[in-house]
Order: sequence, then C-alpha cells, then structure tokens
Amino acid sequence: MCTGRVDLGFIFRSFSNGMDGVYIAGCRLDECKYITQGNYHALNMVLLGKKIMEHIGLNPDRLRVEFMSSAEGSRFAETVNDFIKKVSAIGPFGKSEGLDENGLKSKLNEIERLIPYIKIVTREKLSSRLKDPETWNQLFTKEEIDKLFSEIISYYIDPEKCQACMTCAKRCPVEAIISAKNQVHVIEQEKCIKCGTCLEVCPTKFSAVTKISGGPVPAPLPEDKRTIVRKKKE
Ligand code: SF4
Ligand code: SF4
Repeated sequence: MCTGRVDLGFIFRSFSNGMDGVYIAGCRLDECKYITQGNYHALNMVLLGKKIMEHIGLNPDRLRVEFMSSAEGSRFAETVNDFIKKVSAIGPFGKSEGLDENGLKSKLNEIERLIPYIKIVTREKLSSRLKDPETWNQLFTKEEIDKLFSEIISYYIDPEKCQACMTCAKRCPVEAIISAKNQVHVIEQEKCIKCGTCLEVCPTKFSAVTKISGGPVPAPLPEDKRTIVRKKKE
C-alpha cells in the first residue's frame, strides 16, 4: 500500500535473488494520503541503499525511486522504460562491475544480516525529509558509509564476568547467544545482528557484555571450559 513499507532488506534481497535493477514508485512527496509521509522513508532507504551499493562496488544506478500520482500512467511507463534501458546498458549484475560472483554473494549476505544494525546507526538521517532533489545525494556520504562498516560494532560476553543468569539469551531477538544453565554464555558472531539488547539487559552487578568498535572479537571459550564454578560451592 505504501512505499513507507520499503525496507533495505527488500532491496538487497532482490539483488541477492539475481535482479539487475530495483525500481520503486511512490506517491508524490508531500502528497501522502495518510499522515505517515512514508514516501520520504522510501527515499531515504534508497539514498542509503545507493551508498551501500557503492561501498561494495555496485553501480548505484541499478536502484531508482520515482514519485508520481496514480493519474500519471504515462510518466510511470516512461520512467520504467528509461530505467530498463539504463540498467540494460549497465549490464549483468556484478559482472559488469568486475565483481567476483562468490565474493559479491557473501557481501550481499553480510549486508542483509547487518540491516537492523545499519538502520539503528542511521536512524536519525532515515527520518529526514529532504524536499530539494539537489540535496538528496548529500544525505549519506561515501566516507560515512565506509566508516560505518570499518567501525562496525560487535558485542562480546566476558567469560570472567558472565554468571549465566540467561537474561541476555532470553531477550536476544535472533537466538544468537549460546545459553545453558551454569555455562558461560557465548555470542555467535555470525548470527548476531548487533542490536545491543544483550548489553542493555545484562544486570549491572555482572556487566558482562562489552561493546567492541571496529576491533577483533576475542575467541570464545572452548565448550569444555564454560562451566561456572560457584565460589560458595567451591
Ligand atoms: S547484540 Fe546481543 S542481543 Fe543483539 S543480536 Fe547480538 S547477541 Fe543478540
Ligand atoms: S545477561 Fe550477562 S550475566 Fe546474564 S547470562 Fe547474559 S552475559 Fe551472562
């Protein structure tokens, strides 16, 4: 019903599924039928998506958003035809950009996994309402997106501090924490979407979760060394 529903996830899933281009058509800006102005949200998602595409070496012209009313059928047809022409001229997805197929696939998978994190980090800009098309390209800069990926946050549970209260594992939205009674908890980094919930909910008296910016995450304890020996019992 509304381009406000358009998510970065839809865009990158389309590319992962082999689409050469993604075209999004929404209502004219400032002519939202409701109160949500979701078309600005779609615009910002597209502007962000284009910069992420540049970051991984893809031609950002493979992604386009247009705004029009339901009475503008001919404009819809013209812009779609123009888009198809331009995407055809760019050529097959990834190959034309000289990207290795497997390398691109893993980059797209990584982007899809990190979308919740990317949206948290960019949330202020994603709520912008830039009316002047001349300013759209400045909403996100290449440097900013490069920095976002180079300083990516990771979360780590300090085995010396974790008391296996299980709070973090119960609250993790993607079951990325290996949890068992009396066992030091471990974050599975390849599953973690970096939402930061574990850091927020770990009781202050334990403060076992650490936020790491850009650096490597320490290796997890081997499984046979995760049992917590309680001092009283000892
Ligand atoms: S940051 Fe913590 S709560 Fe969020 S997904 Fe990663 S492990 Fe789970
Ligand atoms: S909330 Fe903190 S103390 Fe409790 S299991 Fe998770 S990391 Fe360990």
